[in-house]
Order: sequence, then C-alpha cells, then structure tokens
Amino acid sequence: MEFLLNGYTTYILVLIALVFSLYASFNVNSTFKKYSSVYSSRGHTAAQIARQILDSNGLYDIDIVHVNGNLTDHYDPKRKIIALSSTVYDSTSVGAIGVAAHEVGHAIQYAKGYIPIKIRMLILPVAQFGSRIWIFLFILGLLFSLPLLRDIGIILFAAIVLFQLITLPVEFNASNRAIKTIESQGILYGEEVKGARKTLSAAAMTYVAALAVSITQLLRLISTTRRR
Ligand SMILES: [Zn+2]
Repeated sequence: MEFLLNGYTTYILVLIALVFSLYASFNVNSTFKKYSSVYSSRGHTAAQIARQILDSNGLYDIDIVHVNGNLTDHYDPKRKIIALSSTVYDSTSVGAIGVAAHEVGHAIQYAKGYIPIKIRMLILPVAQFGSRIWIFLFILGLLFSLPLLRDIGIILFAAIVLFQLITLPVEFNASNRAIKTIESQGILYGEEVKGARKTLSAAAMTYVAALAVSITQLLRLISTTRRR
C-alpha cells in the first residue's frame, strides 16, 4: 500500500489509466462504426426490437424516443423512456440492435428490482453532489492548510469512485440480458450475435477504464496527504 501511495507511482498509474481510457474510447467508436454497417438478416430496426423486447417483458408503459448525438442512448427511469440516438433508432445494424437491447436491459433491471441498480440510485445524489464540490474543498484545504477540508474533498471523490464501481455490474448485467434475449427471441442469428456482443463489450470497457482513471486519481489524492 505504501508503494502505491508514493507520489511518482501514482503519477505513472494515472498516466497508464488515462492511456487505457483513451484506447477504450477509440475502441468503442471504431467497434460501433464497424457493426453499424453489418445489417441483421431479419431487417427490423433497433427501435422495433426495443419495443418487441419491452412488450415481451410486459413493459408496455415504457416509450421509445429519438435523441440527438452519437452513443447518447440511455434509459431514463423517471420519465420511463428509452432514448435511442440517430445512429441507432432507425438502424437495422447488429451494433444498433445490441445497443437498443442493452438499454431495454436497464429498463428490465428497474422493473425487476435488480439490487445493484438500487444501490446505484442511493449513491447517485452523493456522487452528483461530490462531483460538483470535491475539488473546491480539496484545493481550499491545501491552500489554507486545513486537513479536514482536504479530507472531506477526498471522501466525496471516493463516493464518485464508489458510484463508478457499482455501475460496472449494472452495465455488464444489462449487456448479458441483451445478448440472452437477442439469442432466445431469435432477433439475430449466428455471426450477427457476435457483432452485437463485441459492440457491447467495447462499451463496457469504457466503464472499466473510467473506474481505473478514478481509482488512480483517488490514490494520487491520498498520496498528497502523506507529504510533509
Ligand atoms: Zn448501460
């Protein structure tokens, strides 16, 4: 642990995590681009597939809407809408269908009371609050030599890390549900399933990378408290 909290070691770890994060973000874009031009033989759009999976789970009250942007797809549990981006909504590609089925996976998690998503909801306000003010407390603490303020800053940052940690099972589970449904409902066939799976794996890697960056940053913050 002492070695991990050495100033130079934390610098190097942050750099490694940042490189990994850059790679993950490049990889998700290129993988999605690739499988956005591989079309499913059944020819249904991602929005139609999302509707089909929602209905088969009895989730008739959840709407599917169109949002702008690239990879901005998400499920909004408050408004009960699945938002699919321009490159996904009308597309019949295996990448788009994978993304749509993943977002439906989140809707099913809420409907079935999947525990990690409940924990994530509990941590969310603290993480949101922390992300706004941790840096101010931390810097003020350093500037005015107020260790308590600095430590509260670090604890709030740790709440963000915790939120990112609990996001991992939520994301992996949504993707697993998506692939299982895609196979069991015969939405995609053979090689097509592989394309959807690779798209979702690339997306999952960005969450792992974001967590890695935050953990190394947390170590770096803690290392500053060890200086004399
Ligand atoms: Zn997700």
